[in-house]
Amino acid sequence: MGNIIYNKRLTEEYYLMKVEEKNNAEMGQFYMLRAWDNEPLLSRPVSIFDRDDDSITFLYKIIGKGTKLMSTLKSGDNIICQGPQGSSFPKVKGKIAMIGGGVGIAPLYLAAKKLMEDKDNEIDIFFSLRGVEILREELSSVSNNLILKTNERVVGLVDADKYDYIFTCGPEGLMKDVYLGAKDKKAIVYVSLERRMACGIGICYGCTCKTKSGNKLTCKDGPVFLAEEVFIDE
Ligand SMILES: Cc1cc2nc3c(=O)[nH]c(=O)nc-3n(C[C@H](O)[C@H](O)[C@H](O)COP(=O)(O)OP(=O)(O)OC[C@H]3O[C@@H](n4cnc5c(N)ncnc54)[C@H](O)[C@@H]3O)c2cc1C
Repeated sequence: MGNIIYNKRLTEEYYLMKVEEKNNAEMGQFYMLRAWDNEPLLSRPVSIFDRDDDSITFLYKIIGKGTKLMSTLKSGDNIICQGPQGSSFPKVKGKIAMIGGGVGIAPLYLAAKKLMEDKDNEIDIFFSLRGVEILREELSSVSNNLILKTNERVVGLVDADKYDYIFTCGPEGLMKDVYLGAKDKKAIVYVSLERRMACGIGICYGCTCKTKSGNKLTCKDGPVFLAEEVFIDE
């Protein structure tokens, strides 16, 4: 059970919630969040946007009942945080592009922040979202270059030959376009998949995804995968 430090409204849809929670979480992992008793039945998976040893910050977008309930929480309220769960982004070195769409920017912020600790790394963030701009200052502080577009695509702006690695998270279409744009080019692409999850801890098999090496669980084997492992029919 985590005590909420703040639950800040960024726009009508986007919220940033910081929770007291001792952790040793890695970039790319997520928590199953729950701030209600019976309804909705399932907890909701949300990526780690930022962390320190005593707290986790989540960036979330209101979609339906669960996230709407989350948005009503106040500083001092409690929320059940089950995690950290899942795989993490690898600690790579070199020139790295982070390509995020909408709330998919959440795990990329922490990845950029962590990888920027190595001064030899160069990080470019490409972030597109619909509607109002968010997080410009925060994303600038964890990147060498920030390209932030509202209501415009960013994938076409990335030359995969100029990067050693690309990390991407967001709508499935965006991640597939990133993968296809980097095919036969220099960059190695990692994706953070979003699948509907019920348990989030590898018991229910509800989030099974097809990979080159057979069926895998997005919650346990993922959410971070090599793109070429999961986009096998492209
Ligand atoms: C690994 C992972 C990380 C995620 N990280 C974030 C994040 O950092 N910020 C954020 O805002 N959202 C994130 N999501 C998506 C988030 O889990 C859904 O938006 C949320 O569950 C919607 O719940 P709801 O009750 O508001 O909506 P409803 O539509 O009422 O949800 C109904 C059911 O569908 C599931 N569901 C709906 N949309 C999604 C979705 N896109 N992905 C997975 N399950 C879904 C819910 O878990 C729930 O069981 C992540 C999803 C996954 C799998």
